[in-house]
Amino acid sequence: MKEFKLIETISKFFTNPTRGIGIGDDTAAIKTGYEYHLITVDTLAEDTHYRKKWKEVFPNLYRSIGWKLLAVSVSDIASMGGIPHVAVTSFTLKKDFEEKEIIELAKGLSAACRHFKVLLAGGDTVRGNCEVFSLTLTGKAEEIMTRNSAKPGDYIAVTGTCGDAAAGLQILEAGKIDTPEKRKLVEKFLFPYPSIETGEKLKLAGVKCCMDNSDGLLFTCYEIGKQSKVAVNLESEKIPISKEVKKLLGDDALKLALSGGEDFNLVFTFPESLKELFEKEKNIFIIGRIAEGSGIYIDGKPATVSSFDHFGG
Ligand code: ADP
Ligand code: MG
Repeated sequence: MKEFKLIETISKFFTNPTRGIGIGDDTAAIKTGYEYHLITVDTLAEDTHYRKKWKEVFPNLYRSIGWKLLAVSVSDIASMGGIPHVAVTSFTLKKDFEEKEIIELAKGLSAACRHFKVLLAGGDTVRGNCEVFSLTLTGKAEEIMTRNSAKPGDYIAVTGTCGDAAAGLQILEAGKIDTPEKRKLVEKFLFPYPSIETGEKLKLAGVKCCMDNSDGLLFTCYEIGKQSKVAVNLESEKIPISKEVKKLLGDDALKLALSGGEDFNLVFTFPESLKELFEKEKNIFIIGRIAEGSGIYIDGKPATVSSFDHFGG
């Protein structure tokens, strides 16, 4: 069974909270009184999300795992328009784990806690056959942005260049960081900087529909279309691609920008009335438009959506 089918099957056993959002958005959002309590969990597993052999070209790998462990969840809170608050972790370590690695990880995680103003309040450490790090993060928001609120006529935009992290991953896998461009892309993959401020700014401007592009731009647009019951039309030449990715990938750059994951930018939609405001912003790229109907189209042609699926979907 594929990942998304599996999540759908599991979710049938549970009812959604009466006030707020359950399974299906970037975080759960439970309304109590006048505010939403947000909660999300993410996991980094050896040989799924990282490989020990990357240490040969990036000795500080475990510092990145610690940083990323929090950053990926901060991205989900940002996409809801929330402020992160408290984290708890769960570490599964192999019997012969290296103390040095876990200390590096703790340093990366504590740097991320300082940067994103998160309190690490506890956790759990156990032995297992595979190394797995998991983190649960809470947050708060008075209003939230969701995946299901795009409206026909809205514009759709992204808050940063696409495909950088995926290119960084390719470089790590190839095992050679021999140019400053390659180093920059690897660092984008290993040390993501989701922006809480950007999420807040969008929400305050009146944005209702937002999702992070952790699973790739095309999949994110597809998911917004599916949940909002609208069609998404993208213009390929508007998709922002960094000069490093263009240089490294040439003709394949667009493909990677559409399908590559882990950039941790926000994808959002907004009505005509906000166009002038967002057109002025340096880091906001309008990439298409929402219409009535369903499906996702690039330059008018139906697009096939591929994104990473843990079980090969
Ligand atoms: P994200 O990429 O934003 O972290 P995921 O793709 O991991 O989100 O998950 C998609 C949705 O499915 C989320 O709303 C998440 O809470 C939910 N989900 C994923 N796995 C499970 C599970 N095992 N049980 C319940 N809900 C799940
Ligand atoms: Mg997300």
